[in-house]
Amino acid sequence: MTASGRVKGWCPGAWRPMASGDGLIVRVRPRFGTLSRSQVLIICDASRRWGSGTIDLTNRGNVQLRGVHEQDWRSLLTALIEADLIDSSPEAEARPPVLVAPDWQPDDDNYIAAQMLSERLGELPALPAKVGFAVDAGPVRLLTDAPADFRIERAMTGSLMVRADGRELGTPVESVGTAVNTALRLARWFGESAGEGARRMKRRRDPLPDWLPEAVRPVLSQPSFPLGKHPLGLVYGLRFGQVSADALRKAVLPENVRGVRVTPWRRLLIEGAHPEPLDGLLTDEGDPGLTTDACPGKPFCEQATVPTRELAQQLAGEIKGRLHVSGCPKGCARQRPADTCIVGEGGRYGVIFQGRADETPEVAGLTESQLRSYFGVE
Ligand code: SF4
Repeated sequence: MTASGRVKGWCPGAWRPMASGDGLIVRVRPRFGTLSRSQVLIICDASRRWGSGTIDLTNRGNVQLRGVHEQDWRSLLTALIEADLIDSSPEAEARPPVLVAPDWQPDDDNYIAAQMLSERLGELPALPAKVGFAVDAGPVRLLTDAPADFRIERAMTGSLMVRADGRELGTPVESVGTAVNTALRLARWFGESAGEGARRMKRRRDPLPDWLPEAVRPVLSQPSFPLGKHPLGLVYGLRFGQVSADALRKAVLPENVRGVRVTPWRRLLIEGAHPEPLDGLLTDEGDPGLTTDACPGKPFCEQATVPTRELAQQLAGEIKGRLHVSGCPKGCARQRPADTCIVGEGGRYGVIFQGRADETPEVAGLTESQLRSYFGVE
């Protein structure tokens, strides 16, 4: 296979990278959301050697290398396979992702379920792109807002349960094995009955099958992973979900670091880290880079017609509510509405209030300085 089969807008993987303004985007899907210390060092070295020297964390808890030259893609792929960071076949990489709550412990229900599920993904028929599983069976739910279609969770009654995304209630199950069987059965049912209809579970409005009664409520949701001390190490933030390879390398160099757990919330849990600030990693919950959404923009994406992140950083403290700055109407950084959405079109900025990047701007055709004046920011 060559990298030439890429398609614009394709959800990038390592085997099927996506072209961007600064080269290829190569995505690594860490197993159990975890990277060993040596794997992190290999990713950092690969990013510096074959990429732009920056590493992205996606809202699905994946790691992306940017700026990879076409001619270097094969060398990068080989290095990632040798480090056991990606599957050795494109077919295996195409299987649905399994997102697991990042505070899993060896041999707890989350770990066992994620392992069993991962081993059986090959049983599934082809499913629509982006469809995946979440294993989130701790005493509170962490992954409620993370994208996933078939969820293994903890019920209020204490038992495990399986819930179709978008439904309030789910089905109680007796054991981890039954939870995995049921989640796979649900995925199979979804694939076989999807037809030309909704391609994500939460958009399905038809009744669920009889064997999946909506009977129990999941435990409460706590969709946050505070920066700072954690029983497993320290949680750091990534501004706009991005970190330089140099900063990440430095963060894991101490030998007491065991590895890194990635999260869908622009946060990394460095296992065994010393409690100290690290250059390039955020420790302040109030940093706008944690809550403002901005895609890479110009010149890093070839579909962008305007720069985004520097502007977002400057405007974030000045604009009330959730801010999204998007290089084009595709809105990669945020699919849901924001209080203020600034979108690039034809080299100018438009503004949408309470909306998404693909909606019609209420104010359009602004230069960057006009935009700053509009918001009273000089
Ligand atoms: S939203 Fe941003 S990253 Fe996505 S295609 Fe448009 S410019 Fe590129």
